Amino acid sequence: MKIFDTLQRRKVEFEPIEPGKVGIYVCGPTVYNLIHIGNARPMIVFDTFRRYLEYKGYDVNYVSNFTDVDDKIIKAANEEGVSASDISEKYIAECKKDMSDLNIKPATHHPQATKEIDGMIRMIQKLIDNGHAYVAADGTVYFSVETDEGYGKLSHKDMNEMMSGLRDLKVSGEEQKRNANDFVLWKPKKEGEPFWESPWCEGRPGWHIECSVMSQKYIGDTVDIHCGGEDLIFPHHENEIAQSECATGKPFCKYWMHNGFLKINNEKMSKSLGNFFTVRDITAQYDPMVLRLFILSAQYRTPLNFSKELMEQTKASYERILNCTDKLKELSAVCASKPYSDAENEAAAQAEGFVREFENAMEDDNNTANAETAVFEIVRLANSTVNGDSSAEYVAYMLEVIRKLCDGVLGVISDRRADSLDTEIEELIAKRQEARKARDFKTADAIRDQLTAMGIILEDTREGVKWKKA
Ligand code: AMP
Ligand code: ZN
Repeated sequence: MKIFDTLQRRKVEFEPIEPGKVGIYVCGPTVYNLIHIGNARPMIVFDTFRRYLEYKGYDVNYVSNFTDVDDKIIKAANEEGVSASDISEKYIAECKKDMSDLNIKPATHHPQATKEIDGMIRMIQKLIDNGHAYVAADGTVYFSVETDEGYGKLSHKDMNEMMSGLRDLKVSGEEQKRNANDFVLWKPKKEGEPFWESPWCEGRPGWHIECSVMSQKYIGDTVDIHCGGEDLIFPHHENEIAQSECATGKPFCKYWMHNGFLKINNEKMSKSLGNFFTVRDITAQYDPMVLRLFILSAQYRTPLNFSKELMEQTKASYERILNCTDKLKELSAVCASKPYSDAENEAAAQAEGFVREFENAMEDDNNTANAETAVFEIVRLANSTVNGDSSAEYVAYMLEVIRKLCDGVLGVISDRRADSLDTEIEELIAKRQEARKARDFKTADAIRDQLTAMGIILEDTREGVKWKKA
């Protein structure tokens, strides 16, 4: 399997540190409001990558953090007159709801910065002890980039060039720093901010240190693959490498994968520009699976431009999958069990060819765009070869292939319509029962009419209410 490694700037063969096992760390969101669909891109593409590794039989330890202490969280808390943890806990729950709607598997570990402060203090102390960090007069601890020979290797920045563009530290109010590129490991508290005790001052950690500490704790000194959006390459990931490698003396990550931006009108979608849609905005209008299918319609490193037109096209593509699985499910109930016909043998061989194409696409740097194409080929093949005379085994086989690739790897639920309709019907029936119990026959009749309009026939039996499609 090949992946594009940002550090080596080329596609390389993937080999885990320990055979059969993969440790993946994905930088997660800062939780101060609802996530937007740009934030959902890394979540979806790396979840799909994880699913493919699991499909191949790897044991994946997938770690993704929540940044739950940060200026933006504190600002939101002050605006709403609540504590920072009220804000972060609320938006962690909201984010998990979006992830579940988008069928993103929960990580093996979802660490939170505020719960890992002790580990951060230990790593910072180590960096001070071995001369890579220094404490300023006000208790701020900085990492000293000059002490790290490799600094700049991920973002391919030249330190000499970076130095030549230095701002005047006095002018920018950073005279405590030895070098403009030095970054904060620990900073003193300000009025009204959450803080923790530390050997240097009451304060809180800088942003970068949390990922170094959590990846080490939940995966190890060296991570197989570290992922995130390409905006994190510099300074966040560059600084993570510096801290971790100077603290452990070992390589921090074997591979780095970065996703390209989700754009809107060819501009990066971001909260600061205000040009964003939240996942909630989109899932109010579309099935979340349409959004997932849309995000995966481009290879993860290429920019992807969001538009309503593309969402409409994707919705129609998703309908094609749903219609196909509806038909397959219906036929699997009526078709007779018999050996494959010659034509079915041939079609099954063709389907296996598309499965190989799907796998080849995923092996080629997580190319979900080509993987989706292979799934649509299978859908087309199923539609053109399955009918009332098909062998029940052949119908079941086609359904299984779609489920394996589409649901299993892409995480796009292929027969959701039936399920969600079932739930809706069952909820209506329960409401009608409640109304009848309360002798509110008007409401009960209205619900029955609504169900009739949906093509549902109710039968009151001794075992309770049964329903079927008209
Ligand atoms: P943040 O909450 O801004 O730290 O972002 C969380 C994750 O979303 C990071 O991996 C970012 O790189 C990623 N991200 C933010 N905006 C976009 C975007 N427009 N397209 C793709 N990824 C993004
Ligand atoms: Zn991070």
